[in-house]
Amino acid sequence: ETFDEAALCESLRNNISKSGYVKPTPVQKHGIPIISAGRDLMACAQTGSGKTLMVGGVAASCFSETQEPEAIIVAPTRELINQIYLEARKFAHGYVVGLSKVRYLVLDEADRMLDMGFEPDMRRLVGSPGMPSKENRQTLMFSATYPEDIQRSAEQRGFDREQRER
Ligand code: AMP
Repeated sequence: ETFDEAALCESLRNNISKSGYVKPTPVQKHGIPIISAGRDLMACAQTGSGKTLMVGGVAASCFSETQEPEAIIVAPTRELINQIYLEARKFAHGYVVGLSKVRYLVLDEADRMLDMGFEPDMRRLVGSPGMPSKENRQTLMFSATYPEDIQRSAEQRGFDREQRER
């Protein structure tokens, strides 16, 4: 199979072909049609399976209608980004992070985030004022392992499940 059969917008398909990828990996082959159909996705995919294309490229660039960010901030460390964020929040009080236009919530390496103790942060993010409800956004969740807490969380949300082909 080729990427031509996957329902991708032209610009993303062109970029993929320029990058030299000819054939989608299994997780791409099964996952891209689900994402383009507007459905939620829970995929079990190891590092090296090609999931980053979907986490980054597909989810962020192709299916969003507005590709016009109003600010891009680049800094070398997480600590610095955090400081910038706190400062920005202070000065842009009242109109900083508007979440109402969020169409995709993408959780990469969900199992590692749980292991690292990020569950409260994830819950806070999902419950933030303005964040569209799960019916009004698309949730894409990627996890290398499929432990019970992830299974429960995925099943509660009625995720489509796409397993890595071995
Ligand atoms: P990832 O699992 O997303 O980190 O991808 C592992 C490696 O495979 C990266 O070096 C990607 O650039 C590469 N890759 C991803 N998708 C494809 C593809 N369809 N064909 C060839 N290489 C790919």
